[in-house]
Amino acid sequence: MKKLSLDKILQSQGFGSRKGCRDLIEEGEVSIDGVVIQKWKTEYQPEGLVFQVFDETWEYREKVYLVLNKPSGYECSRKPTHHPAVLTLFPQNMEWRDVQPVGRLDHDTTGLLLLSDDGAFIHAQSSPKRHQPKTYIATTAEPVTDALVAQLLSGVQLIDEPAPIAALVANKVSENEIEIVLEQGKYHQVKRMLAAAGNHCSALRRVKIGGLLLADLDLAEGEWRFLNADELALLQ
Ligand code: URA
Repeated sequence: MKKLSLDKILQSQGFGSRKGCRDLIEEGEVSIDGVVIQKWKTEYQPEGLVFQVFDETWEYREKVYLVLNKPSGYECSRKPTHHPAVLTLFPQNMEWRDVQPVGRLDHDTTGLLLLSDDGAFIHAQSSPKRHQPKTYIATTAEPVTDALVAQLLSGVQLIDEPAPIAALVANKVSENEIEIVLEQGKYHQVKRMLAAAGNHCSALRRVKIGGLLLADLDLAEGEWRFLNADELALLQ
């Protein structure tokens, strides 16, 4: 990767306009290796660059991979119709990075949501050919019975689908909670499968994608962070 001036690097990482980044640098708010850099023309190799802005440490990221513990009441669409967009939960709505959710959760579904500005990653993760398993905990209106579990495992017929669809895993968690693992990502799939099996989903939480477990991420609802390399590897 070729060297870039510090103002360009800061702009690419979301610290504002080119002018704003130059001001930050000239005002002495940016340092590298403990040394304040006040010349915005100074060039650096972006890859691997670690820098401080307002005493907070950042590392250069060519692409970003984010995880959000999605609260209820947010739409995954970039042009939401009835509820705020999930992007409003990020600083400056993440507009500076052209970030999009990887697949969608319903506005009332909570839990694990990935976002990225890496088109190849988004495509690979959401491709139906990938069969990336996703684990949900559904709260049901009616008790979870052995018959419900058996039906989900043998397959239920959804309207508009040519053949019955089965869950990879279905486990009763409590009287009114069921764990369901799916390898497809069809529209309202969990809710429609539960309805087709004669129950009703009253709340839904995604708790795992591939090997990435929400419980291991230590994120309260509404919180997000960058995924590290080890966590990204759990999605491969
Ligand atoms: N299945 C659903 O019904 N809704 C979601 O948000 C995700 C899976």
